[in-house]
Amino acid sequence: MTARSTATIVQLDEMLQPPLYAKRGIALVRGEGVWLYDSDGQRYLDLMSNYGVNLLGHAHPRVTAAIVAQAGRLLSCHQSFASDVRAAFLEKLLSLAPHGLVRVFLSNSGAEAVEAALKFAWAVTGRRKIVAARRGYHGRTLGALAATGEPKYRQPFLAVLPEVTHVPYGDAVALETAVDQETAAVILEPVQGEAGIYPADPSFLEAARRITRDRGALLIFDEVQTAFRTGAWFACQHAGVSPDLLCVAKGLANGVPIGATLLTEDVALALPPGVHGSTFGGNPLACAAGLATLQTLEDDHLIPAAKELGAYFRQQLLALRHPLVREVRGLGLMLGVDLKTRATPVLKAMQERGVLALPAGTTVVRLLPPLILTREDIDFAVVRISEALEALRAGSGGGGERD
Ligand SMILES: *Cc1c(COP(=O)(O)O)cnc(C)c1O
Repeated sequence: MTARSTATIVQLDEMLQPPLYAKRGIALVRGEGVWLYDSDGQRYLDLMSNYGVNLLGHAHPRVTAAIVAQAGRLLSCHQSFASDVRAAFLEKLLSLAPHGLVRVFLSNSGAEAVEAALKFAWAVTGRRKIVAARRGYHGRTLGALAATGEPKYRQPFLAVLPEVTHVPYGDAVALETAVDQETAAVILEPVQGEAGIYPADPSFLEAARRITRDRGALLIFDEVQTAFRTGAWFACQHAGVSPDLLCVAKGLANGVPIGATLLTEDVALALPPGVHGSTFGGNPLACAAGLATLQTLEDDHLIPAAKELGAYFRQQLLALRHPLVREVRGLGLMLGVDLKTRATPVLKAMQERGVLALPAGTTVVRLLPPLILTREDIDFAVVRISEALEALRAGSGGGGERD
């Protein structure tokens, strides 16, 4: 490809697509480890991993080798045929899964993993009602959007969305009231991500398990953002609570599109043949990337590393004792810095200082870094975050708020 200026690339990107995303104004062209490079050669420390996708950072040699080898062998293999690499990947994934989850439906994204879970719950229970949490995020296809709590995403589509009851996250009494004999499923994130990084109290997940079991409803955990990142393979393992269905996507293949819905034997065997399917789901390329990702997470001990590095990151952020920081929340390398000001100007100031992170809610700087980052990377990040906060504080007297 011929080299184009940043301005040209950014302009084309905005002109050729509908204006749905808040743009960051730079063009990323290359990544290596925890670093991303823009079209001007400027490098950025990646504390967002593309919304939690790149657990092993960018261009990880093991994942790249697996993708290249599989691309030269077989890219596509419909699920009506068995596949060597798919079988190996599923064996690996299920060996790490919470107790009782023994089968997997494969798709291509987080929303698809959620759609499948909801359809399976409707099909297996023959019931209609779904209960979800306020401020929860489950994706933006119609079924997933129905479960998503954010009014901004839901409002234009209310007339066509399946009915979902939303209860306050963490409120076991409200959940107890909302779930009845008509409820097909309860869907929850073990840590709310988009809402602003709110880890559930283990007792809430235990209550959700008990209530759904008592009423004959299914329990779905949406671990699209939490899987592999919180210091356990799956966040629900911290609480020792296993759902009937579990959704995974984002980090599962380190950047190759993939979605997975894990199921119990009971749910799997109750599904009528043909009720769901996907042309690309379970393709050998994604499975090869997924297998290499899981093997690397295991061989390089990155799950305990996430726990240890997350604790260090949190401690260093708290040590800033910065007046603009209200709270630092999280689990493992899924962290939220809740500010006493809006997050977007701080994110912009961080980007100008070579660090990329994400917003969550209005006031939270969300950190979803690759699990391969080092303490030195964290120290670098904390200095830059501190500088960005200082710049904001210095500018805030003179209408320094920007969007
Ligand atoms: C990102 C996300 C989704 C949707 O995933 P997509 O791949 O964007 O469709 C669903 N649930 C949770 C918890 C997420 O963080």
